[in-house]
Amino acid sequence: MAPRKKVAVMTSGGDSPGMNAAVRAVVRTAINMGCDAYCIYEGYEGLVRGGDLIRQMHWEDVRGWLSEGGTLIGTARCKAFYQRPGRLLGAKNMVANGIDALIICGGDGSLTGADKFRQEWPSLVDELVANGDFTEDQVTPYRHLNIVGLVGSIDNDLSGTDATIGCYSALARICEMVDYIEATASSHSRAFVVEVMGRASGWLAVNAGTATGADFVLIPERPEEHDWKEKMSLVHREMGKRKTIVIVAEGARDKEGQKITPTEIKDLLSDTSENGLALDTRITTLGHVQRGGSPVHMDRMLATLQGVEAVKAVLEATPGTETCFIALEENKIVRKPLIRAVQETQELAKAVESKDFTRALQLRDREFADSLKSYHITTNVTVDDDKLPTDKRMRIGMINVGAPAGGMNAAVRAAVAYCISRGHEPVAIHNGFAGFARHHDDKPLGAVRPFNWLEVDSWASKGGSEIGTNRELPEESGMELIANLIEKYQFDALFLIGGFEAFHSVAQLRRARDQFPSLCIPMTLLPATISVNVPGSEYSLGSDTCLNELVGYCDKIKQSASATRRRVFVIECQGGRCGYTTVLAGLSVGASAVYIPEEGISLSMLHADVNHLKEVFNADKGQSRAGRLILVNEKASKVYDAKLIASIIREEAHDRFESRESVPGHVVQGNNPSGMDRCRAVRLAIKCIQHLESFGRNAHNRVKTDPSSATVIGIQGSEIVFSSVKQLEETGTDWPNRRPKVAHWLEVRDVVDALSARPAYPKPEKSLTGLIAKDTKRGLA
Ligand code: ADP
Repeated sequence: MAPRKKVAVMTSGGDSPGMNAAVRAVVRTAINMGCDAYCIYEGYEGLVRGGDLIRQMHWEDVRGWLSEGGTLIGTARCKAFYQRPGRLLGAKNMVANGIDALIICGGDGSLTGADKFRQEWPSLVDELVANGDFTEDQVTPYRHLNIVGLVGSIDNDLSGTDATIGCYSALARICEMVDYIEATASSHSRAFVVEVMGRASGWLAVNAGTATGADFVLIPERPEEHDWKEKMSLVHREMGKRKTIVIVAEGARDKEGQKITPTEIKDLLSDTSENGLALDTRITTLGHVQRGGSPVHMDRMLATLQGVEAVKAVLEATPGTETCFIALEENKIVRKPLIRAVQETQELAKAVESKDFTRALQLRDREFADSLKSYHITTNVTVDDDKLPTDKRMRIGMINVGAPAGGMNAAVRAAVAYCISRGHEPVAIHNGFAGFARHHDDKPLGAVRPFNWLEVDSWASKGGSEIGTNRELPEESGMELIANLIEKYQFDALFLIGGFEAFHSVAQLRRARDQFPSLCIPMTLLPATISVNVPGSEYSLGSDTCLNELVGYCDKIKQSASATRRRVFVIECQGGRCGYTTVLAGLSVGASAVYIPEEGISLSMLHADVNHLKEVFNADKGQSRAGRLILVNEKASKVYDAKLIASIIREEAHDRFESRESVPGHVVQGNNPSGMDRCRAVRLAIKCIQHLESFGRNAHNRVKTDPSSATVIGIQGSEIVFSSVKQLEETGTDWPNRRPKVAHWLEVRDVVDALSARPAYPKPEKSLTGLIAKDTKRGLA
């Protein structure tokens, strides 16, 4: 029998939240794939020093690691590895320990080191033989180095990937802090200069600026085309604005390549000379809090799914395959050549150094450039002079439909900002179609009102729905009435933000076009619901906020469960008849099982899971303190709800362990939306208005025949696409279950099961067939 392969994982460079989740995923996937798993402690230092810094890891060793910040296997800067003799020692320790494959989770430095190691490997092995460290036979199995990179960094500074493991947690932390600062800035009418991390990358600064609606953002890749001082001097406190927030990346440079310091900015803003701004200005340097804490859902998911992919990639690698790293493109996990990413990242640093900022921006991923554009569009909207000719300007109605979801306000704000900058007239329709229909002319502040930018500008970070939302569908409100109101207010286009009801509304409005010509206007929907059940998109606003809340809730419950030991918590998750939230939360908290409506629950399945719990608790002598969680979607079964499942487990456990149910309910809608939801809200909302804009005014005839006149914007795999509602309602929608026909996330459920060692169980009779995407590799969540 061939010896078991040995797969090692290491964390290197700066630590970042999510690294432990990556190590856990690598260790458990390697074991699941019949390999022995190893950890190399203290980064390259451990590789060079060997000994007990290279240790075999077992399944239980990584229990509870998902929620831990930093890296539990340590990281260190290792000078020796920069030099060949250091790398030779590393190679010697690899061969001596019989390591067949190495997965390195680190930043651009670590991956540069990995690439160098890989290039040199054949000559290092030759040297080990020549030195007499090993015989030719001993090194034969190790002639080729199988190496795969995982990008762990809060800075999001590697070319070729939209995100790095840790960047979303850092963004979340920054947004949280800036939200606090905003309140005090506003109270005292102050200016704040907030310095954020990012090394040579402006990703954190740009996204934090977008998410919080900061007035200025200064980054390394894009020194203001004009003198930043000049631009900032135009800071406008007209319109009664009470605060000014400037976010400066630690690597920010001016156009001469000089570092811009927070003190310089403060001096400018607080200048009391004749033409000075004289703002009461404070500096806040966030520092290492940005690295700290438990990883957010997105980083745990990224780390876990990428960790699984890294093991597959490293085991599939042959001498002929190019060494890869695992990247993210929008929602899709992909393998990409490591060497190119490393080269492009180095090229980027050189471009910044040589002040070729256009090139620098090209070398960042597409999402970065898009985010930067979005930030500029939503800032200083009144000074922007990008207006369309008068006859092209449109009157665009904006409406929220369904339950509130995090990011709705950020989306409305961005849409309004874009409209203003283009000369369109954005109009708020308050309280959904119900509010619209109950409109009365005798109420001057009725349901249809123009936006006040000063008010809207403060919505960037707000949860809920400022313009109000309602579940009522247009047909319930009265289609004729709605059509008449659209005519009365002379809307040229409609922008909807909401969940499945919003999708249903667009479908109804579209179908009624034949009857009511005033409905022949372009309309587009930006999905916003914690259920992620809108056909046409793998993501909806609010889902990230909800998952963070749910994951935080489960972490707390898990801690309580482990403190009391031997307790299983059965947690009910929202999501309608769509199991997305349950599965993704299950992935992030390491659930023992997830129960979803797409599959249902059966007695024999519960029986198998209860038996498994019995075995687990029998084997666990109490030395491991982790509790167990089962997540059950609210509509997974008409009979077996969280309470009943907990009771069944308790009854069957015969006092060997405990079980309780827990229902977080609406708490999971969250308070302030997550940074990621806010940023995506801004990007997608702008794209929606641009899409509506492409129809122009008086587009009735085109609207009648063009399927893209009623659309849903969505993230599908690595693309942002507008899908025709007609097509989606006819072929892509499971109407009785109010969800898309294809569940793109189903394969994630298998990862949850695999990483919690849930044994195969009898499948309930309810079938999953037809739900699985043909190309299941397409998206991740
Ligand atoms: P990060 O991975 O977060 O960018 P560093 O740049 O400090 O962090 O790199 C981490 C470690 O990776 C270094 O301490 C060193 O051991 C190794 N390393 C970095 N760059 C190289 C290089 N050019 N050649 C060899 N090893 C390198």
